[in-house]
Amino acid sequence: MADPGATLPERLAGIVGGPHVLTAPADIEPYLADWRGRYRGAARAVVLPASTEEVAAVVRLCVAEGAPMVPQGGNTGLCGGATPDTKGREIVVGLRRMSRVRAIDADNATITVEAGVPLAAVQQAAAEAGLHFPLSLASEGSCTIGGNLSTNAGGTAVLRYGNTRELTLGLEAVLADGSILSALRGLRKDNTGYDLKQLFIGAEGTLGIITAAVMKLFPAPRTRVTALAALASVEDAIALLAQLKTALSDRLVGFELMSAFSLALSRKHHPGSPDPLPGHPWYALVQADESSEGAPLASIVEAALASAIEAGSASDASIAQSAEQAQRLWALRENVSEAQRREGPNIKHDISLPVSAIPAFMRECARELESAFPKARLVVFGHLGDGNLHYNLSAPEGVEASSFMDNGERANRIVHDAVARHGGSFSAEHGVGQLKRADLVRYKSPVEVALMRAIKATLDPRGLMNPGKVL
Ligand SMILES: Cc1cc2nc3c(=O)[nH]c(=O)nc-3n(C[C@H](O)[C@H](O)[C@H](O)COP(=O)(O)OP(=O)(O)OC[C@H]3O[C@@H](n4cnc5c(N)ncnc54)[C@H](O)[C@@H]3O)c2cc1C
Repeated sequence: MADPGATLPERLAGIVGGPHVLTAPADIEPYLADWRGRYRGAARAVVLPASTEEVAAVVRLCVAEGAPMVPQGGNTGLCGGATPDTKGREIVVGLRRMSRVRAIDADNATITVEAGVPLAAVQQAAAEAGLHFPLSLASEGSCTIGGNLSTNAGGTAVLRYGNTRELTLGLEAVLADGSILSALRGLRKDNTGYDLKQLFIGAEGTLGIITAAVMKLFPAPRTRVTALAALASVEDAIALLAQLKTALSDRLVGFELMSAFSLALSRKHHPGSPDPLPGHPWYALVQADESSEGAPLASIVEAALASAIEAGSASDASIAQSAEQAQRLWALRENVSEAQRREGPNIKHDISLPVSAIPAFMRECARELESAFPKARLVVFGHLGDGNLHYNLSAPEGVEASSFMDNGERANRIVHDAVARHGGSFSAEHGVGQLKRADLVRYKSPVEVALMRAIKATLDPRGLMNPGKVL
């Protein structure tokens, strides 16, 4: 029987055990700010449940006390979704102790994992079973599968395997009233009414707390070919993408675009990086995988690139001759974000467009940005195969970067208005969180926003699940 005079943290300790409720400032510090250091909040306590039943009991207690909850996984999100507000009333519910792989069903090609399993550990468990979990992000050592589901994370293999939503078959979640939605089915066909798991994928913790999921697995790739292609224009990149899709079909896993400037930044801030094809305006990093043993994948990629060069859609190409060379080519792409950070503050946009609309969008948007911010440097790179660009702005050379950041809202408006005109999305893979709430209301139709609010009010009528995020 709980002591009626006990504080909320003391009663939470009765559920999860004293060591798993943190209240001392030094202990809760790592949970209060986001990865980029852009948001900083305060919390009444951080609670670390270890099972679905504990999560449900924590939610029931918080609801009874009227305490808002902020679910948190690896805290690598880029929109402030896992950071509590500054009032100090919220309870951060950290999921990292829920770190069990519950089952692997090799015949069904599925893995059942708890929300706090780091993405890299899901990949590892699949590999140990001779299978492949394809979700891959630069943050995979730290981010959790629960966070991946809640942000519907994308990454570098969406072209072939889809984003997290498309990799999910079943879900378990604790609802805002503390009840447990148990839908951990590993079914590829299940047309029994509304697909409720979809509500929680991409909801950023605003509708309930995901505790486990059944994810799809795939045959492990046995041959991998990585190449860099040099291109004269973005139109050529799109033509090359179409040619490679025809030649490789679903063996084409990744097609990453980099402008010459983003590649130069990557090399500048990571000395010793290779420069295999100097002097071109655009580059595409291509990856193809093959699961059957001994398939002539390298010669298929080589022939496809040779005919693209002959057709004029690629200017030149270089195929990695070893795993180490492939890794060095990938590092060129993966280091762009970090290089941009080292270059100074920058204004970031994570946008998506129909691939066919990208050239017109780029022409129009670059023109508008140039006239608004003469000499600002565009850093364009991203998952072109998915229509997802990181379309960022660095300060002009010699301009104080922090004063340039005052232009953020104006730049966002120019970019996001152009995205909307071309049928795109202001957030392709990073979500909405605190960062893009105003954009959501501006760019979604009134009917979509009203429907989202109605769903939120139905599932979380007291507004205690991650308040102030998304909506
Ligand atoms: C270096 C780097 C590279 C990245 N690259 C990519 C990329 O290529 N593609 C991409 O999509 N993202 C990328 N990200 C962003 C980030 O890693 C992803 O959004 C990731 O999915 C977040 O997982 P997390 O466990 O860290 O979640 P957190 O940051 O802890 O939380 C993210 C959101 O999900 C909610 N949440 C977390 N766990 C749960 C749960 N169990 N139930 C309900 N809600 C929950 C939180 O409240 C918050 O709103 C990158 C981040 C970094 C730092």
